[in-house]
Amino acid sequence: MAVTPLHKMHELKIYNSISGKKEIFKPITEGNIGMYVCGPTVYSNVHLGNCRTFISFDMVFRYLKHLGYKVRYVRNITDAGHLENDADDGEDKVAKKARLEQLEPMEIVQRYTLDFHHVMSRFNSISPSIEPTATGHIVEQIEIIKTILDNGYAYVSNGSVYFDVQKFNETNNYGKLSGRNLEDMIANTRELSAQSDKKNPQDFALWKKADPQHIMRWPSPWSDGFPGWHLECTVMSTKYLGERFDIHGGGMDLKFPHHECEIAQGEAACGQTPVNYWMHANMLTLNGKKMSKSTGNTISPEELFSGNNDFLGKPFDASIVRFFMMQAHYRSILDFSNDALEASEKGFNKLMDAVQTLETLSAHEKTEGFDVESWKNECYDAMNDDFNSPILIAKLFDGVKFINILKEQKATISKQDLDMLKMTMNGFVFEVLGLVNSNEASSKVNDKLSGTVELLINLRAEARANKDFATSDKIRDKLLEIGIQLKDGRDGTSFSLH
Ligand code: AMP
Ligand code: ZN
Repeated sequence: MAVTPLHKMHELKIYNSISGKKEIFKPITEGNIGMYVCGPTVYSNVHLGNCRTFISFDMVFRYLKHLGYKVRYVRNITDAGHLENDADDGEDKVAKKARLEQLEPMEIVQRYTLDFHHVMSRFNSISPSIEPTATGHIVEQIEIIKTILDNGYAYVSNGSVYFDVQKFNETNNYGKLSGRNLEDMIANTRELSAQSDKKNPQDFALWKKADPQHIMRWPSPWSDGFPGWHLECTVMSTKYLGERFDIHGGGMDLKFPHHECEIAQGEAACGQTPVNYWMHANMLTLNGKKMSKSTGNTISPEELFSGNNDFLGKPFDASIVRFFMMQAHYRSILDFSNDALEASEKGFNKLMDAVQTLETLSAHEKTEGFDVESWKNECYDAMNDDFNSPILIAKLFDGVKFINILKEQKATISKQDLDMLKMTMNGFVFEVLGLVNSNEASSKVNDKLSGTVELLINLRAEARANKDFATSDKIRDKLLEIGIQLKDGRDGTSFSLH
């Protein structure tokens, strides 16, 4: 019997930043979704603010998959073309770091890409389907610039190519995503400096001619240079998802100019708007201010896991931080604090205890005291309402309450309802929210470690009995080298970790 995918039974609504409304989600191709999210610029370690945006979209990806959609999720790595201050002039962020550290730019890219992947896997984030890089798509970027030039929406100036915003705005609407109006922008900008190659201050670079000291450079019909920052996302999204695709995401701070320029480039190159649903995740703040690399107002994932920061009273597990983030809606600002994390830790442990208890419950003839089916529907309603994870979590805690009543044997549950309760709890907690039961995971590791050391203790005892002291000493010394100390006592040998 063919199973009906869940998405056919649910109506998902997504807040579309371009219309400012929640809209019923309908993919271009039934059952399939193309989603693009702007990835990190790999010139430094990611901070928790960056992580929040990527974790928000990981939750979106997970829920879409949970609903049975086939999702192609593309999240790029920006490894060239992103200049200081997000501007059209200045040093490339990657090249600057390479200069300061006396490394090759690609050594910087490798180091911070690995760091990013490591951090995201600590947060139990699923890898995207494709993770393309800007430097891997220079040829495609040059091709799309040619098309935009041919279509009359760009001009060459002194070896650079600029997008002609005023020309574009005659036939299209520049500013429709960010709610800006070109006349106001013009009124509020200063005159161009005499040295500028641009016709108008609003124009943005598609290709920049490289100064002699700019080391990240490629040949092109216009100059040895490098692509503009906004262009890579247009190129990589259209290459892997098509000229028009379903969902484009990123942090709120990317709406303007980055995403506005992506729309302009897509429309200028392909004659149609590139994205059906624009999703923007809100910022993580610290002391009420945006967590940001440039102001130094950040906490790093490593500091969080080690507790090594004045803001933190103790270390926190990645799953607790993930839970803390899921307790806020992705479109709300979330302020980071030690107290809030401690509160989340309590909630998280309560949830995990209940999930474990659930496995020990037995079924009765009928259910009393809870309507499992309507509760399950309410869980889905929360997520179908623009991925409302805080409401979902509140619903999951209604489930926790019932589980605890069942544990005390003050209510009963039928076999069918128990199965539904387990499937819904586990599905949302692990599959959709992406939480990991760290208590269970670390106790499993501890069990395995104890078993392994016991085995070595027994082998050592056998060696001693056979007067093979070379082997028995080797076992003791090697274990000590990795921080495991054996202690021989009257009741046998025990061990401790250092
Ligand atoms: P970047 O590496 O600077 O290009 O940023 C990578 C992503 O992190 C972008 O989607 C930003 O919008 C996002 N981001 C940066 N700061 C924060 C923050 N404080 N809270 C949430 N997301 C952020
Ligand atoms: Zn982008």
